[in-house]
Amino acid sequence: MVAIILIIICIHPSFMVEKMKAMVLSSLGPIENHPLRLKSITKHRLQNTNDMLVRIEACGVCRSQLHGIEGDWKKYNIPPKLPTIPGHEIVGEVIESGRDVSKFKIGQKVGISPLHNSCMHCIYCMSGKEHLCESADITGESLMGGYAEYITVNEDFATLVPNKISSEQAAPLFCAGITAYRAVKATEPKPNTLLGIFGVGGVGHMAIQFAIINKCKVVAVTRNKTHINTAKKLSAHNTIQYKSQHSFIQQLKNSVGLLDNAIVFAPSSRIVDTAIKSVKRGGTITIGTFVNIPNFNAAEEKTIRGTLIGNRNDMKDVIKIAETGKITTMVEKYPLEQANEVLLKLKKSQIKARAVLIPNYI
Ligand SMILES: [Zn+2]
Ligand SMILES: [Zn+2]
Repeated sequence: MVAIILIIICIHPSFMVEKMKAMVLSSLGPIENHPLRLKSITKHRLQNTNDMLVRIEACGVCRSQLHGIEGDWKKYNIPPKLPTIPGHEIVGEVIESGRDVSKFKIGQKVGISPLHNSCMHCIYCMSGKEHLCESADITGESLMGGYAEYITVNEDFATLVPNKISSEQAAPLFCAGITAYRAVKATEPKPNTLLGIFGVGGVGHMAIQFAIINKCKVVAVTRNKTHINTAKKLSAHNTIQYKSQHSFIQQLKNSVGLLDNAIVFAPSSRIVDTAIKSVKRGGTITIGTFVNIPNFNAAEEKTIRGTLIGNRNDMKDVIKIAETGKITTMVEKYPLEQANEVLLKLKKSQIKARAVLIPNYI
């Protein structure tokens, strides 16, 4: 009798541990060795009364995951600990919410950026710069990442995604989109000025579009032939395939002349040096990646600016612009289980713009 009661108790739903699929990173290593492993782990549950449980429908594959997974960014303490579930461009459906959630309803589509949470009381959080909070939680640097079936999020750090934007189209807006938007804004864009964009991948292809919305003339610079075609499709004013600094600057001078401003997404000191030399005196060079800055000549009155994702209002602005149809994300869809293969393609520059992982891909 006792045994029967115990069996009944154990099969009761509240005693069963719910599971979810995730691509888990337990040790860093080259992507060729498939460091991400498909695992069945305990499904996330709401931790706080203003948390929501989101069933992930799409997660973009960002180059920063490749750097984190392969150990390139250990010097920056990324990832801060293991294991992690990478992925920080997430869109999904709210399927459960805590009792204090008031901004969203069950069934609505939301997006989550790299900023998963912040302290809300430091000088940055109090002045609309929560993305600079020193105690922020970064999506994908713990088990709260997007290469999985579910994630929880505090409602204050989720952004509503209108149904007219599909989940796979929306996902890249949450890192590539906001990073590009903020970087273009940092150059203080003016109509008809020449803006060089160095690096045309996931972020670069969005930056080209935001720059064109601001009526800049975009010069897209990349080593990669596929990305030259991507930039042309997006109506860049000019495209230059980068081979060496010397030949690039010559080609630039011969075609359109020196740039008014530049944005660098390519993680290379040499490219940053090239960008600084390609900009007219008094221009601004915005850097949206981790990189060293060589050879800065203060006498040329150039400004070098750093940029990192953006705040929650920037995120809302990006979604508003996307809703008007003025920007599009060029995406390739893959099943979640193929995360290693997709990251390898990204490493080999075989992704045209942005790859997106879909859990339960049919
Ligand atoms: Zn990213
Ligand atoms: Zn803070």
